[in-house]
Amino acid sequence: MGRIGTVIALVLVVYSCYFPGSHTEITAAQEAVITTALSGFDTAGIQSVIQYIDNRYGVWGARYATNSNIINYQNYLTGLFTSYGYTDITLQQVQCNDPGYTSAPGPLYMNNIIVVKDGAGPPVVVIAHWDSVPNCPAIDDNFSGCAGVLEIARLAYSLNFENRLVFILFGFEEESLLGSSLYADTMSERPKSVINLEMIGFTSPKENPYPGTDLLMGFPTTGDFVGVFATDFSETLGLNFIYAVDTFVPDLKYYFMITDQNFGNNPLLSLLMRSDHTSFWEKKVPALLVTDTAELRDGAVYHQTSDNYLSFDPVFHERITRAAFAALCIEAGIQP
Ligand SMILES: [Zn+2]
Repeated sequence: MGRIGTVIALVLVVYSCYFPGSHTEITAAQEAVITTALSGFDTAGIQSVIQYIDNRYGVWGARYATNSNIINYQNYLTGLFTSYGYTDITLQQVQCNDPGYTSAPGPLYMNNIIVVKDGAGPPVVVIAHWDSVPNCPAIDDNFSGCAGVLEIARLAYSLNFENRLVFILFGFEEESLLGSSLYADTMSERPKSVINLEMIGFTSPKENPYPGTDLLMGFPTTGDFVGVFATDFSETLGLNFIYAVDTFVPDLKYYFMITDQNFGNNPLLSLLMRSDHTSFWEKKVPALLVTDTAELRDGAVYHQTSDNYLSFDPVFHERITRAAFAALCIEAGIQP
């Protein structure tokens, strides 16, 4: 386990003694394939995609459904998946009847973008939402997650896995998780596991305590870690993510928590239940929230016009994306 990981994990073992799980073992050959794949990480490419989206804000506007230019963003995103080689790309229309971020009447419409890489076993799914609130470039919340999904999909395209892979960019996360709820309610196959990349690009010298986090021993006070949140029925997935960090991205600091199903007594409840992984937790599908907890950080740009590339941390973002890719490989049974 990583430096900071060890300290907190010790605490968590105490905290989560109900769930004595362990991570999935991988072979040396699998580890070598992951390492080789990560050596192809396209840092310049993914940063130019993020900068392009930041630049488009001034031309196309926000990724909110009242904006008719939203189709340009959708076409750009599906175009990227196509450029990586993917052909199984579908759009699932989501309807929002009672929008909360605009006085404009519903219904509003937006699409979930669903990309499949075929494989035998139940799907391992990596998700992020591509919508934003109005009047916000939304680079951390949540184009950072979208960029993570894109680069992971690009790296995974030429590799082989036991399990099917599904990459989803959800619409209407900001509107009561409508996109992921619709998907979870209508999915033809129950996923093996889901990794949610929700704000993975913002760091700060100071992490402010969240009501109750003082109860959580070891909750970091420096805003340079990634929060990794699992439920008890998602424990193996969580341990695989932490194992991936320690093995492939040891410079990434993390805070790992396994919370039992009784969310009621968890001080981070509202933080934990506010993104698309929740739609899968509600179906008891193993799912993981991976987030920078941006709202808790000094200088937070959350839902503000300052949530742009200037406040973005590309090194931090790359480390999380690398870790999520490695975790996906472990979860989906990468074939040497
Ligand atoms: Zn978000």
